[in-house]
Amino acid sequence: MSTASQPIDPNALRDLRSRLRGRVLLPGDTGFDTARRPWNLAVEQPVAAVVEAADTADVAALVSHAAATGYGISTQPNGHGATGRTAGTVLLRTRRLDTLDIDPAARRARIGAGVASGRVQAAAAPHGLTGLPGSSPVVSVTGVALGGGLSWFGRAHGWIADSVTALDVVDAGGRERHVTATDDPDLFWALRGGGGDYAVVTAVELALHPAPVLYGGRVLWRAEHAPAVLDAFRRITADAPDALTCWFELLHFPGADPMVAVDVTHLGDEREARALLAPLDRLPAPLGDSRRIMPVSEVGTITAEPTDPGPGLSRGELLTELDDTAAKTLLADPIAPLLSVQLRHLGGAFAHPSDSPHGPLAEPYALYLFGIPGTPERTEAVAARQRELADTLPVGRRKPFTFLAPGETAADAFAPAALERLRAIKRHHDPGNVLRSNFPVLA
Ligand SMILES: Cc1cc2nc3c(=O)[nH]c(=O)nc-3n(C[C@H](O)[C@H](O)[C@H](O)COP(=O)(O)OP(=O)(O)OC[C@H]3O[C@@H](n4cnc5c(N)ncnc54)[C@H](O)[C@@H]3O)c2cc1C
Repeated sequence: MSTASQPIDPNALRDLRSRLRGRVLLPGDTGFDTARRPWNLAVEQPVAAVVEAADTADVAALVSHAAATGYGISTQPNGHGATGRTAGTVLLRTRRLDTLDIDPAARRARIGAGVASGRVQAAAAPHGLTGLPGSSPVVSVTGVALGGGLSWFGRAHGWIADSVTALDVVDAGGRERHVTATDDPDLFWALRGGGGDYAVVTAVELALHPAPVLYGGRVLWRAEHAPAVLDAFRRITADAPDALTCWFELLHFPGADPMVAVDVTHLGDEREARALLAPLDRLPAPLGDSRRIMPVSEVGTITAEPTDPGPGLSRGELLTELDDTAAKTLLADPIAPLLSVQLRHLGGAFAHPSDSPHGPLAEPYALYLFGIPGTPERTEAVAARQRELADTLPVGRRKPFTFLAPGETAADAFAPAALERLRAIKRHHDPGNVLRSNFPVLA
C-alpha cells in the first residue's frame, strides 16, 4: 500500500456494516457529510467512508479489514488538527471511546481516545488533582498528547506527552496491545509526541498532578496600552516560577475595538500570584479582569475559545527571544486581518530533558497567529500577515507538532535524527501504511 489515494471497492466498505457495531457512513448516506467534516471547517476532508467505532473491538475489526483489503485509515476524534490528507481513506471517529477512570490514590487517569480535556479536568478537580489542559476544553487528550502537547501547566510538568505512562492501542495489523516504556520503548517513544502514524490509540494512561488551588483569569485593556502591557509581561515572565504561566494576547474581533490581554494561571494561592503579577497592577485600569480562585475544571474559560466548529487559519512558531527589537516588531502595526496573536510563555519544565520526539523546548515563547479565512483574497491576506510577522520576528527552525498547520510537514517539527527514528518505527510497525496521520512522517 502506498500513500497515494486508491479507489476502494464500495462492496468492501458496505461489508464493514456487518462487521462493526458502530455506524458506517458511505457517500450518499444521510449524515455522511456532517460526519466527515472536521472541527476546522476551512479544511475540506474527502473520505471514502466514516466509521464511528462503538468500542475497541470495532477499531480492531476495522484495522484488520483495512489491512486485508488494502485501504488507509485516518483517525480523528474531532479534527482540530485536520489537514485534509484523507483522500481515499476511511475516517475513523473515536468519540464513542469515552470511558474515563480516575484513580486518585495512584494519581492516574485512564482516558478513552474520544475524551475531551475538559472532562478529565472536571473529574480530577474534586480530588485536588489536574491533568494537563491546553487552552480549549474540547480538544481530545489523546489527539493533543500524540503531538506532544502544550498545556497551561507545561512550565510545571513539561509536555502533556511526558505525563503519558501507558497506551492501549490497536496496531496496524488489528491486534490490541498495551504499550509501555518497558514493553516497547520505541513505539512508546513515538506515541509520546510523534503523531498518529504508528497505531490507533484507544486509551491513554496519564499521570495526574496535585492542584489543590488554582488562580487564573484574563486581564484585558484597550490596544493603545499594548506597549506597556507587553513590557509588564516581559518583566513578569523573565523570572516567573514554574507554577506561574502567562500568555500575552493581541486581539481584534470583528465589530470590536482591538484589545490586548494577559491570560494567567498560577498553581498556587492568590496572594502569591498577585505579588508575582504586581507589574499588571501598575498599568492603566483594565477593561476587565476575570482573575479568581477557580476549580481546575474552569481553566478552559480563561481564553474562552469557541467550542463549536468553525473555520480557522493558524500559524505557529517558536520565538528564540523577546528582546526590545522583537517587542517593537510585534507591535509595529495592527494585527488585522488576524483575530489574535498569542505569545505563550514556555521555559520551566518545557526546557527540561524530555525523552520524546521533539525533546526539550529551549525557546522561551511560542507564537500562535490566528485568522479566519474566506474568499481567496481574504485567505491570502491572513496568510500574508502571518508570514510578515513570522519573517520579521526571531523564530526558531522547528515548531511544536500540535501547532503545525495544513501545508506544513512533520519535518517542520522534528530534528532530523528524531524524524529518521520515527520513520523507522513507522516502517516497522505499519509497513503497509494503513494508518494515515494528519502530518505523516513518511511524507
Ligand atoms: C481551539 C484550539 C485550541 C488548541 N489548543 C491547543 C493547546 O493548548 N495545546 C496544544 O498543544 N495544541 C492545541 N491545539 C492543537 C490540537 O492539539 C491539535 O489540533 C490536535 O490535533 C488535537 O486535536 P483533536 O483532539 O481534535 O485531534 P484531531 O485533530 O481529530 O486528530 C489529529 C491527529 O491526531 C492523530 N490521532 C488522533 N486521535 C488518534 C488516535 N486515537 N489514534 C491514533 N491517532 C490519533 C491522527 O493522526 C489525527 O490526524 C488546539 C487546537 C484548536 C483548534
